[in-house]
Amino acid sequence: MLGATAVLQLVVYIATSSVALLADLIHNFGDALTAVPLGAAFLLRSPSAERRAGYLVVLAILVSALVALWQSVERLLSPEHIDHLPALALAGCVGFVGNELAAQVRLRAGKRLDSTALIADGNHARTDGLVSLGVVASAGVVAVGLDVADPLIGLVITLVILRITWQSWRTVRGDHVHH
Ligand SMILES: [Zn+2]
Repeated sequence: MLGATAVLQLVVYIATSSVALLADLIHNFGDALTAVPLGAAFLLRSPSAERRAGYLVVLAILVSALVALWQSVERLLSPEHIDHLPALALAGCVGFVGNELAAQVRLRAGKRLDSTALIADGNHARTDGLVSLGVVASAGVVAVGLDVADPLIGLVITLVILRITWQSWRTVRGDHVHH
């Protein structure tokens, strides 16, 4: 589901070239990709493999944050006009709904299984949903004529992703292997 969200956001990014959406999209792609090593490690029932997969996840999120940072700064320095604002707002809404649904599934399962890692994942997805709302905000502010809002919101999204990176790092180092 998150993969489908990321693909739809990619299509809208190509049409709009919104850097706020790009930051959200890179991060959602990273999240979708990291489900693969985590799932594999879980199926192998190997705590050490799961821990290594966890470090890979943190690395992927960190790289996504750095790419988003670089793109936002570049866009601040050389502004670009953004088009197709309704599609941009829609892409943000889809990201919000997709992540919020994922958050609810994980938080419910995490509480049932008493899994710190799953609850951390759920909180992460909920944060991602709020990040997607930032894309909707970007479409709104650009619509009233403030093009600079898009890279600024891209920077804010980058900061949120860096915070997620830090929280994921703590989860992996601490309680990640206990299911
Ligand atoms: Zn995320």
